[in-house]
Amino acid sequence: MKALEVQINGERRCVAGDPKAFGFHFVLHAGIHGAAVLHLWGHLTPKKQGTADHATWLEQRVAQGETISLRMIETDEVDRPTDTHASTHARNTEGKLELSCSFCGTLKSEAKQLVAGANGNICEKCTALAHQIMVEKGLAK
Ligand SMILES: [Zn+2]
Repeated sequence: MKALEVQINGERRCVAGDPKAFGFHFVLHAGIHGAAVLHLWGHLTPKKQGTADHATWLEQRVAQGETISLRMIETDEVDRPTDTHASTHARNTEGKLELSCSFCGTLKSEAKQLVAGANGNICEKCTALAHQIMVEKGLAK
């Protein structure tokens, strides 16, 4: 199967792919909040009809000057994703996956209200913001 290999300074850090998936969209995201963190996740296209899923393969600190490279490869062995619900769940302070707002990432335990949907969740703050946008556009009172 086709997979995406991520190397840092020439060293293989992960091989992202899924034998059960027909295809992927990979997103390599580098966030800098103090330390720089590289984050690779994918949006899976299932072979059979059903809901698509998200999976995370890499969450890695990177330092200034390090070289990150991506390579498409053909392989039978891929790494198992670490998280499979990146858009609907986040890790709490104990490192456990918990339902979270798909818009702002607020955990269910930190939200006053989290409305859970089939493919996403929304908290009270984001609901209020979305309502405000609708009011400004004349689509709600
Ligand atoms: Zn929110």
